[in-house]
Amino acid sequence: MYEFAVTPAVTQLRRPGVIITEVTPGSVADELELRPSDRIVKVNGRAVRDYLDFRFQTAGETELTFHVKKPNGETLEIEFDREESEDLGLMFEQIVPRQCANECIFCFCKGNPADARPSLFVRDEDIRLSFLYGNYTTLSSITEDEMKRIVEQRLSPQYVSVHATDLKTRAYLLGVDEKRADIADKLKRLLDNDIEIHAQVVLCPEINDGVQLEKTLRDLAAYYPNVVSTAVVPVALTRYNTDERLTRVTPEFCRQTIEQVEKLQKEFRRTLGTTFAFLGDEIYIKGGIEIPSRRHYGNYPQIEDGVGMVRTFLNAFEKLLRSFQTEGKKNEAVQLARQFFKNSRTHPEARTPTALFEGSTLPIDRPRGRKLFGTILTGEMFEPTLSDQIGRYNKARHSRLNVIGVPNTYFGGDVAVAGLLTGQDYLKIKDRIVGDFAVIPKHTIKSDEPILLDGMSFDELKSKFPVPVYDLDLNGLMTFLS
Ligand code: SF4
Repeated sequence: MYEFAVTPAVTQLRRPGVIITEVTPGSVADELELRPSDRIVKVNGRAVRDYLDFRFQTAGETELTFHVKKPNGETLEIEFDREESEDLGLMFEQIVPRQCANECIFCFCKGNPADARPSLFVRDEDIRLSFLYGNYTTLSSITEDEMKRIVEQRLSPQYVSVHATDLKTRAYLLGVDEKRADIADKLKRLLDNDIEIHAQVVLCPEINDGVQLEKTLRDLAAYYPNVVSTAVVPVALTRYNTDERLTRVTPEFCRQTIEQVEKLQKEFRRTLGTTFAFLGDEIYIKGGIEIPSRRHYGNYPQIEDGVGMVRTFLNAFEKLLRSFQTEGKKNEAVQLARQFFKNSRTHPEARTPTALFEGSTLPIDRPRGRKLFGTILTGEMFEPTLSDQIGRYNKARHSRLNVIGVPNTYFGGDVAVAGLLTGQDYLKIKDRIVGDFAVIPKHTIKSDEPILLDGMSFDELKSKFPVPVYDLDLNGLMTFLS
């Protein structure tokens, strides 16, 4: 039984308010003697549940009253004025995700090894995280309060896992009854209130493919432009997914899906002016079909779901290589790297690619004049693409960079993406490392703690590697190469 399988989908019971984690020295909050661990319970008389509420209730307000609970139980009421848009200098605790009450047959939690990190079993289904980070929710157990909150606080866009618009099929995939699976009214209410929706279909062969897929895409496209886009991503099954109702995605299935969806994409471009339905990069890679061009993806509306990531990378790499051919264009190369993946959502809390770039460090200390010699590790899926590009880079820069596609033996099955590689997987190929350093994908390490998916600490991994190991995201890698 999975840890959270029976957790009811209600907002977790917790103490009211939002806890301060950091106060900027010299800021307004500092002058008001607000301190980490203080809890802001109300703003101008209105209850605060989390930092989204806090932001919503303080936005544009110059006269503010905070109800604050100190850790010792003391309660304070603080009244103050501030300049319009003046930053208060506060950081808050993370949002605790609300859990889902579905039993999706393909749920990633069912594909985890029993000893995986507890956080991998968290089934989040949270409209706040959908708005902030592009996490998908099914809306199947959304409460009236949450519906109101989306509209009132303009938590738009929302990312919704639709999977199928045929009710029976959706209920079957979600493992819930049809009443719960039916989100037609909820979707309509959001759309009527001008909340934008990005939809997702997790494509399961023999369940929601073929005519079901066509129906789903057509039904959703009928709501364009409020339903802005739909991502179709293939189900990825680990070796622990043994549910007999599931069929693995094959290269032939990918080619058939591309052929089918291409016809619809052409139609949507003609009638809507957008591709609208975007296939996941894995479908093209697995099907052995070339990744579509830049124009196909428009403004990359599903980049948060990894859709179009390979095209973005290829284009950025192409420009990078071209920039090396012209003297005096090095700055342009850096700019290109900065622009990499810039097509992202813009709300301030989102960890945008730009923010990731700013946070990236370039730790590899290379003696002047010495050519780069090292190994870049990635998932087996991305290895051929990265190898090709790095081969071109080596020729242009006379470097000796080597790429290894690391097999994912921890999850096994179809899992070949870089983001799910573990410490154990890296250690299994350590004898193949060449050169002065190794680079691993940054997102295989937890964002708030230096630990890998199998629980191995980054320090332990580094201590067992024959060369220094650095974690870089693609932005960091691009910057380094440029
Ligand atoms: S796939 Fe998502 S919605 Fe479905 S059970 Fe898992 S966490 Fe819940």
